[in-house]
Amino acid sequence: MATQAVALESGPLAATRLPEPVVLDERFRDLLRPGQFLERLATGSIWSEGPVWVPRLQSVLWSDIPNNRMLRWSAAGTEVFRQTAQFTNGHTLDLQGRLVSCEHGRRCISRTEADGKVVILADRYRGKRLNSPNDVVVRSDGSIWFTDPSYGILSDREGYKAEQEQSGRYVYRLDPVTGALEIVADDFVQPNGLAFSPDESKLYISDTSASHEPDGNHHVRVLDVAANGRPGKRLAGGGVFAVISPGLPDGLRVDTDGRVLITAEDGVHVHAPDGTALGRITVPEKTGNCTFGSAPGSTVRNRLYIAASSSLYAITLNTTGAGHA
Ligand code: MG
Repeated sequence: MATQAVALESGPLAATRLPEPVVLDERFRDLLRPGQFLERLATGSIWSEGPVWVPRLQSVLWSDIPNNRMLRWSAAGTEVFRQTAQFTNGHTLDLQGRLVSCEHGRRCISRTEADGKVVILADRYRGKRLNSPNDVVVRSDGSIWFTDPSYGILSDREGYKAEQEQSGRYVYRLDPVTGALEIVADDFVQPNGLAFSPDESKLYISDTSASHEPDGNHHVRVLDVAANGRPGKRLAGGGVFAVISPGLPDGLRVDTDGRVLITAEDGVHVHAPDGTALGRITVPEKTGNCTFGSAPGSTVRNRLYIAASSSLYAITLNTTGAGHA
């Protein structure tokens, strides 16, 4: 496909004041820091996804999927990190701090090594190609969990149009030691974002099948994670945690108090651990994903970076992110 050439802007945008958060429940105020507001850090993308804070680089990396590139924001500004990026989508870090990415292009999970080489960790299940891995998270035991909807093979916009080889759109776990790939959830229509609770006893997974089906799903489900799971017995339960509207629940993150932050049409919806909608961090563009990181120069993971359509936004919160990335 033709790549749209767009200028990357940053710097003065950071001073632009944007909409205030919307409080639905008084408990939401615990999350907000007086004097802190949403900032736009960079713009110029077509569709932004998969932000990850990389402490080693003091930077946010994220995907601009239709432009087939990855971008990098730091205090110094914004630049192209990787052009012709295999249509990467979600990113995270493994326990060694290496970048782990979902690629629509090669329909795989990849890892970027210290020398910059990008190696494929998994691209097939039982001999057939994965659909198009969308989002990924690494558990504290090093295992890599990811969703595999079909969005990246439906057209040439965010990957390469192709037939689906798998019999469904599954959620997978990749064993870091053996390299074994197993299905951990097979009852989603289009699994998308995912994140563990602070103690990793729960796994939140969004289903965004309403993107292509009028009566499809636009919710987040919560599954119980077995403490010492084995193949076929990793997850249980799976009731609906939150129905998201307007729009679709794309990427999501959990804070250290167990709140679930879910990206949607009008911003980031914040839900209490019991599912109650607490409020919304309003964003002036459709949001695709978010991640906790630090402000440059800090080690406190209280900065929420939000990838939303053409731009990267950030807000400093009165909480920190669960997990390591
Ligand atoms: Mg996604």
